[in-house]
Amino acid sequence: MNVTLIKHMTFAVRDAEKTLDAYKRLLGAPEEAYVKTFAKSRTKAAVFDLGGTEFQISESMDADGRFSKWIDERGHEGLHHICFAVENIDDALAEAQANGASLKECVACKITGSHIHPEGWVAFLQDDVSGVEIEFMQVYKEGESMERPTGI
Ligand SMILES: [Zn+2]
Repeated sequence: MNVTLIKHMTFAVRDAEKTLDAYKRLLGAPEEAYVKTFAKSRTKAAVFDLGGTEFQISESMDADGRFSKWIDERGHEGLHHICFAVENIDDALAEAQANGASLKECVACKITGSHIHPEGWVAFLQDDVSGVEIEFMQVYKEGESMERPTGI
């Protein structure tokens, strides 16, 4: 397994604007960060760099949305998943599965296993590690970028 860096951490929140304000006020998140609407995935999210890691502060636009349901199930906001960048996603998934992991469907795309996202090939594990869902991403190198946007 060759994790190269944390690509992003995604937090499920009820109010992305309010949370982003707290990140700016208490943690010095960039003033220019803003909450963007992702119509296809019915999500509002602030995406910004803090301390060298990308944060995605995500709020569902619907009561039964992906992040709303996650919060309802746990009773609190929190760290929804960590995306780890890997050198080769096929190798990473094969190794994880050889070590007992199983794959989980991507909620946004309804695809299980490696598939294209705006920034790279991604896949999700069924198995939480320390209570947090795991996403792997093989970030596109120059020239590999895909057209199809999938939202967050
Ligand atoms: Zn996907």
